[in-house]
Amino acid sequence: MIRFDAVSKKYPNGTTAVDGVTVELAEGAITILVGPSGCGKTTTLRMINRMVEPTAGTVSLRGRDIREVDAPELRRGIGYVIQHAGLFPHRTVLDNIATVPLLLGWGKKKARARAAELLELVGLPAEMAKRYPNQLSGGQQQRVGVARALGADPPVLLMDEPFSAVDPIVRAELQTEFARLQKELHKTIVFVTHDIDEAIRLGDRIAVFREGGRLAQFDTPERLLAD
Ligand code: ADP
Ligand code: ADP
Repeated sequence: MIRFDAVSKKYPNGTTAVDGVTVELAEGAITILVGPSGCGKTTTLRMINRMVEPTAGTVSLRGRDIREVDAPELRRGIGYVIQHAGLFPHRTVLDNIATVPLLLGWGKKKARARAAELLELVGLPAEMAKRYPNQLSGGQQQRVGVARALGADPPVLLMDEPFSAVDPIVRAELQTEFARLQKELHKTIVFVTHDIDEAIRLGDRIAVFREGGRLAQFDTPERLLAD
């Protein structure tokens, strides 16, 4: 589904963030990128939606080199969730979630109806629709971030430490619900975390990065634990 062929990224300042990664990520599965801070996980993730361009190698999506797809078209099929949710502060929860459907040219009414469905899907009560992001807890904001990323029903979801900014109890709750949601949605998910417990709990496959942006291991959680 998503294939990296000998992919490297060297930033203009000389830092090699990712070094010769070759890996294939399965459709409908959660692949976790795990490893210590600075080992190239976020850079790897951002090469999938062309927020970062590789300096060597090829990234392809369903057999097509992503450089052949223009970035807006590519990104319509790829949802993106980040650590602090990145919600628009001056838009209500409902309008945050409706962002992508509106961009796709859906009418206001249809986009808001879709947003209301997504709000429910991520487990938030309908009364939250009218609130602003600063009137939500961290965990609620992350749920809105997930709902917003699902707006265009993209087959691929990129998630960068989506549950890291909340306390451990809320994190465990979000993980459980996210695993439940994925059972319904079967998205192709690439999920960055530095938390090995989270990786084992959520991952179908785990890509272990080490310093210098090298891929050290790629396997199922069961086989990694057996090592
Ligand atoms: P991780 O997600 O594993 O923490 P990153 O991919 O964010 O790792 O970063 C990998 C390395 O690349 C780090 O050394 C980081 O400082 C560096 N880096 C990340 N983004 C940039 C950038 N825009 N310019 C220069 N160096 C960067
Ligand atoms: P995150 O919470 O997503 O890991 P970071 O603090 O790593 O955020 O990075 C924030 C932004 O700064 C990103 O756009 C990243 O590419 C950039 N960045 C990270 N490390 C460096 C670096 N060493 N030099 C320049 N830019 C960097």
